[in-house]
Amino acid sequence: MRTAGASFLLAVLVAACGPAARPPPAAGVLLITIDTLRADRTEPYGHDLPTTPSLRSLAARGTVHARCVSQHPETGPSLSALMTSRYPRETGVRENGVVLPAEFPVLSEVFGAAGYRTAAFVSTYLLKPHACGLERGFAVYDHEMTRANLGHREFERPAAETAERAVRWLARDTGRPFFLWVHLYDPHGVYDPGDEVAGRFYRKSDRPPLDPGVIVAYQRFRDSLDPDGYEARYDGEVFLADAGAGRVLAAAGPRAITAVTADHGEGFGEDGYWYRHGSLLNDAAVHVPLLFAGPGVPAGERRAGVARLIDVGPTLLDLAGLPPLPFARGVSLARGNPEEPAFSEARRLGGVADRTGVDTRYKVSARTTEGTVVLFPGSDGDAGGPESGGELDAALRRWLLIGDRLPGRERPPDVGEAMRGLGYLRGVDGK
Ligand SMILES: [Zn+2]
Repeated sequence: MRTAGASFLLAVLVAACGPAARPPPAAGVLLITIDTLRADRTEPYGHDLPTTPSLRSLAARGTVHARCVSQHPETGPSLSALMTSRYPRETGVRENGVVLPAEFPVLSEVFGAAGYRTAAFVSTYLLKPHACGLERGFAVYDHEMTRANLGHREFERPAAETAERAVRWLARDTGRPFFLWVHLYDPHGVYDPGDEVAGRFYRKSDRPPLDPGVIVAYQRFRDSLDPDGYEARYDGEVFLADAGAGRVLAAAGPRAITAVTADHGEGFGEDGYWYRHGSLLNDAAVHVPLLFAGPGVPAGERRAGVARLIDVGPTLLDLAGLPPLPFARGVSLARGNPEEPAFSEARRLGGVADRTGVDTRYKVSARTTEGTVVLFPGSDGDAGGPESGGELDAALRRWLLIGDRLPGRERPPDVGEAMRGLGYLRGVDGK
């Protein structure tokens, strides 16, 4: 009898301290990633054109992380880092077209194991299963591409179509919570939202015409050299992606734990890098939006500290009351910002791994709210930011010791061809 009484008491205590203190149960978990989305072209991050009405209303009912840093300026490595909460240098997914090794647990597997129904709807060839391996753990992984680009008949899918598929899947309510990942690709070049949408965002400035040599082949649009035109078309693509996101956000509803972010940004001429991403680690390349909303997320809040894409998974799992991803490097932002700086990595033009073991193929960076340091490991005279030699520099050098897994050698020929079209296999200049 005494034992039963003690058990009952324990159950009451657990009930009193545990679930009662929790927010109401969530309908599910929604993760939306938008490709090539500069934070500063969205309204929650200060853009003064109405590119993102959906993100604006999400910000009003959620929390905006003002300073979120991507771990890599390419799609595959960045999203692999998000899904595993591990650095690209640990997983070996350090460039597009590399499949995530099976030994790294992914977010979808944790949700699936917890009884969630899982699905992903992606919009680029680079996220086909054989190009990234991120289908693992999803019961549904919809990667059907409907729009031609770069000579591929099935290369990408407009946000409206991807959103439509995702909304239809959400409507099949099975009574189980959902984990849904939607990746939208529209802001990635070539920027072509149609003349009508682009026209809404056109603003004439006094900037000179572009030098034709700076525009990478896949981005050239009707031989235009007008920087205002390129930016208007980019804003138009952001608007289309936001509209797709808005449809999914509405269908998932306010009871879904929600995160919206981007895999990386895009250069708009910073450091001489126009309408591209992939090789630089400046803010244009790695500063991405990050918004959370839903049960357990404070409304209308703006958080100043550094956040990272590797923190997204741990945060979603924490908000859902689930155990963390095994071996995660990230932290739950619901409990505060990470104490470490945000580390990122990118490939370098002409880098080699020589026989002495010196590897100059990658550059790395560390960011805090105070500053940034960039290093070129293996080179004479490591170039750094203004804090070179300081604490941040030391933290970055320590981080380099955590491991260094080389990317797999094999890349499917069709994926290599697609990457060449996007300039990923041509090095920094990509001409
Ligand atoms: Zn991308």
